[in-house]
Amino acid sequence: MSNRNTEENDDKKKQYIVVYAIMAFLILYVFSITKNFMTTQEVSYNEFLNMIENKEVESVIISSSEIQILKKEDSTNKVKGKMLYTGNVNDPNLVSILTESGVEFKAEPMKNNYIIDFIFDWVIMPIIFFFIIRFFMGKVGRKMGGSPMMGLGKSNAKIYKENDIKITFDDVAGQDEAKESLKEIIDYLNNASKYTSIGAKLPKGALLVGPPGTGKTLLAKAVAGEANVPFLSISGSNFVEMFAGMGAAKVRDLFQEAEKNAPCIIFIDEVDSIGKSRDSQIQTNDEREQTLNQLLTQMDGFDSTKAIVVLAATNRPEILDKALLRPGRFDRRVIVDRPDLKGRIDILKVHSKGVKLGDDVNLEEIAKSTPGAVGADLANIVNEAALRAVKHGREFVMQEDLREAVEVIIAGKEKKDRILSPMEKRIVAFHEVGHALVAALLENTDPVHKITIVPRTMGALGYTMQLPEEEKYLVSKEELTNQIMVMLGGRSAEEEVFNLLSTGASNDIERATKTARSMVTIYGMTDKFDMMALESVQNRYLDGRAVRECSDETSTLIDEEILKIIRTCHESTKKLLRENRDLLDKISEYLLEKETIFGSEFMEFVYDKYPELRDRKNKKVKDANQVIEI
Ligand code: ADP
Ligand code: MG
Ligand code: ZN
Repeated sequence: MSNRNTEENDDKKKQYIVVYAIMAFLILYVFSITKNFMTTQEVSYNEFLNMIENKEVESVIISSSEIQILKKEDSTNKVKGKMLYTGNVNDPNLVSILTESGVEFKAEPMKNNYIIDFIFDWVIMPIIFFFIIRFFMGKVGRKMGGSPMMGLGKSNAKIYKENDIKITFDDVAGQDEAKESLKEIIDYLNNASKYTSIGAKLPKGALLVGPPGTGKTLLAKAVAGEANVPFLSISGSNFVEMFAGMGAAKVRDLFQEAEKNAPCIIFIDEVDSIGKSRDSQIQTNDEREQTLNQLLTQMDGFDSTKAIVVLAATNRPEILDKALLRPGRFDRRVIVDRPDLKGRIDILKVHSKGVKLGDDVNLEEIAKSTPGAVGADLANIVNEAALRAVKHGREFVMQEDLREAVEVIIAGKEKKDRILSPMEKRIVAFHEVGHALVAALLENTDPVHKITIVPRTMGALGYTMQLPEEEKYLVSKEELTNQIMVMLGGRSAEEEVFNLLSTGASNDIERATKTARSMVTIYGMTDKFDMMALESVQNRYLDGRAVRECSDETSTLIDEEILKIIRTCHESTKKLLRENRDLLDKISEYLLEKETIFGSEFMEFVYDKYPELRDRKNKKVKDANQVIEI
């Protein structure tokens, strides 16, 4: 049995013993109360005095609060009635009355009773209460995925033993550079003595950096799987406990556990939740700071001859505390970036391994249509396609399933019940063809893959999908301008054909403005500002938001410059469409009829008018194929 299982079982056993003990105790307690209740009966003091007068009482026991009465018939009868008692009213004559009527009496030693009551009320009950609350909160915490409070202060890092991790580097596709830099760590873990004997200090930590869903967690596990060592993992947010000091205690536990299991890997996911730079905000969080300090101390403190490697993952490396990044801590950075075309093909292959694929499946085309998608998206696409195949009663996945899955993931599920009025539909059709036509007629734009006017749940009434033929890392000013023109093509078509300004272009406008802004502020593409940086990008791996770095006056000038770019693009787009009004009309009518048309159909219309474009596109496609073959 694996270590993790036994640990969990042990924990469970302990919990059950405690719970059973508490339950037994409570049952006994309740039982004794009810027993008391069933076998005793209160009488009034008057009645009690009457009973004495009538010589019915054999003996009494007097305690500070009550008087227990034993009746004569009870002492002679075998079957006893209920024990009678009455409140002690501190009657000063009681003793003389009792002596007169010959009733035997004695007093309960009251001190004893007090102590027991006291202990019961103030010690035992609170303890029981505490345990009950802890137990239930632990349960709730576990349900919410948090740390159970039963293990208060004990770190709940899951411990996987060697045979638990089956993930290897083969399961991680498209991250060759990251794998290369992690290979060294695997070697350290397996041959620690080789390094220590020469006097080299083992590396302590590496930071996996990249956008969400690119496979950071997967890589960390694969390292453990490749090195065949235990993998202790905990998420940074787990550290931030509800009681101060607990996070720090957890860090300590985690490292203790690791020393026992060395060689091993400690993996701290979402490390930014504790490792946030301490001076970055006005409001400080003591708990997080303590946890961070403990982590720093532990990373310095653990025995460097023991092969323990701390891996951490984050998508916000900028906000990490500098102290975490200095040599001896997380000094190595492994970039886990969005996969390129080849990477995406490989990831699709990995995830479709266990899926039955039809003959027509072309993963390359799918990879091409998903630029920017991360591993998690691609895994999702393959699964979505398999689900769709089942829904259509097939036993294997076909290309159309994958295509549809891409659109589901990228554009939201196809929604057939959203009805557009015929006029709206016309406008949408011309709008989309406007985009597509501008893309087809301009040089250096991505070819049109698909145009559709089937509304999607994510809000788009239709869309034009362009596929880049190759991964691009450098984009020229001309290409950016063309991109803006394509974005403005939708609205321009509406204007040309219907003389109408509709709300349908809001997203296009936003994107076009953003591109124009980057041209001015980041890429230095205007004469006015030359190569001056006016914005800097923060959170590169999250939203990539740009932050202004210039005066308010300059900011006004920037806006003017952006407007100039957009205005020029808008004018030339309208002109281009005006000159090709015949194409715009013809293709839009065709789209209205078909609702969805693919790139090749669309291009036939364009080639009819401009046969010379056919050669240009062919050449492009050939180049692209060459790139892919490499
Ligand atoms: P991250 O930790 O970077 O947010 P994960 O490692 O949790 O991302 O990835 C989530 C899932 O996405 C993985 O379980 C895997 O199925 C898939 N995935 C992500 N990246 C890759 C990749 N490079 N190769 C294969 N699968 C991947
Ligand atoms: Mg993760
Ligand atoms: Zn549009």
